[in-house]
Amino acid sequence: MNTFQSFGWEINPNLNFKNKNFPSLNEDINTDWLIIGGGLTGLSALNQLKKYNITDKVIMVDAGRIGQGSSSRNSGFLVDSTLNNGATTISNIKDYKQKYALNLAGISELKNMVTENNISCDWTAKGKYHAAANNNEFYKLRKFRGLLSEVGIDFDEYHQEELLNLLGTNFYKYAIKTSGGILLNPQKLLQGLFFKICKNSNIYEDTKIVNFFIDREPQALTSRGFKIKAKKIIIATNAWLPELKIKKNRSIPLILTSSITRPLTSKECSEIGNPKPWGVLSVKPTGATVRYTNDHRIMIRNTSEPLLNSKINFKKCIEKHKEGFLKRFPTFCNIDFENSWSGLISVSRNGKPVFGKLNDKVYYAGVYNGGGLGLSVLFGAAMIDSALKVNNTRLNIVSNFPQANNLPPFPKLAAYLRIKLDQIFGSNEA
Ligand SMILES: Cc1cc2nc3c(=O)[nH]c(=O)nc-3n(C[C@H](O)[C@H](O)[C@H](O)COP(=O)(O)OP(=O)(O)OC[C@H]3O[C@@H](n4cnc5c(N)ncnc54)[C@H](O)[C@@H]3O)c2cc1C
Repeated sequence: MNTFQSFGWEINPNLNFKNKNFPSLNEDINTDWLIIGGGLTGLSALNQLKKYNITDKVIMVDAGRIGQGSSSRNSGFLVDSTLNNGATTISNIKDYKQKYALNLAGISELKNMVTENNISCDWTAKGKYHAAANNNEFYKLRKFRGLLSEVGIDFDEYHQEELLNLLGTNFYKYAIKTSGGILLNPQKLLQGLFFKICKNSNIYEDTKIVNFFIDREPQALTSRGFKIKAKKIIIATNAWLPELKIKKNRSIPLILTSSITRPLTSKECSEIGNPKPWGVLSVKPTGATVRYTNDHRIMIRNTSEPLLNSKINFKKCIEKHKEGFLKRFPTFCNIDFENSWSGLISVSRNGKPVFGKLNDKVYYAGVYNGGGLGLSVLFGAAMIDSALKVNNTRLNIVSNFPQANNLPPFPKLAAYLRIKLDQIFGSNEA
């Protein structure tokens, strides 16, 4: 986890919301609730306990720092409809409607959390583009158009000339814009939630859980050999679930890397026609995700690879970002990136998440297949519903959703080949 030291979108380290570290655990302790993992899933679980006015002792631990995982380093697309769902594309209407309903529930959960805690995170409910630069990818957008029509989801279609006006680049030739998606700044989101939700909570950072025992009284063991006895354990480690032997053969982690420019000057903004903030998702799973942010920066994410070892070629990723950036904005060859970062997503073979319990004391959720901004918050709260046996719509939606299935043999190799094939065959959308 040491590879991921920054907090994603941050540009000025002096503005980093986490200047102050929480202590690491250096003794054995007892607690009523132990939450493992301080990303959106864990924070939502903590928030839900507070909302239920639970006065028990709650402890949250994180192997790194709270909010330092994918939750603050994602691309900020809070999606309703999806074209690509992790490594899969949903084409069956019934499955699509079910996933759409789950995503809407995730949006609504995060919206409530943002509103109730008065978080300012550049929340922009203006939709998202799904775009292709190459004619031989158009068929996917046409299929997507058919799916959206059938499900009854609003969308608009745009071609190159219109896209030039809307986005400031003539790279894309055809796009479908759905009106239901939200764009936000994940670092601002995490910063806001951190201050509101972690206040007066018992938190330990740099405290990695390496094992736990569930025989009688659940007990978690830290990497420094300290024991945490807990009445209930909530496991919110997403991409690291397999490390804790949770549904080990259902998911693998992929590393994604992103870069962001400095804010464009007003002259540069006018050179691209002063577009409104936008977000583009590629028609291809390995294509680029690009944002033009509220503060006029351009963010690009066009690399993904299985976590074969803990090292990635960061320099090569940034070169690829630069290449993708210049394909879209060739006149901006003097604009450098101000920040680059990597993060992990967790993907399953069938694009489904995991949610459940090991017994009545240990609960887990994760594997959001690259779309976890809303789902993490939904699943985090649903783990608490489940642990407290609160029967509500949220828990019904989550627990009735199909689960990740078994991975193929040699899953990392399979994922690697699939990504490579997607990059090699067909057109270059990165
Ligand atoms: C580059 C990138 C772009 C993305 N873009 C989008 C997007 O646009 N839209 C979208 O919906 N999703 C996106 N995602 C996915 C989304 O960010 C995640 O699904 C979501 O943040 C998962 O939240 P989480 O809290 O479950 O996991 P995390 O935020 O990763 O939190 C897990 C925490 O658990 C801690 N932990 C792990 N193991 C242990 C252990 N053994 N002991 C203690 N602590 C541990 C980690 O340190 C970490 O802080 C993106 C992800 C990446 C990396």
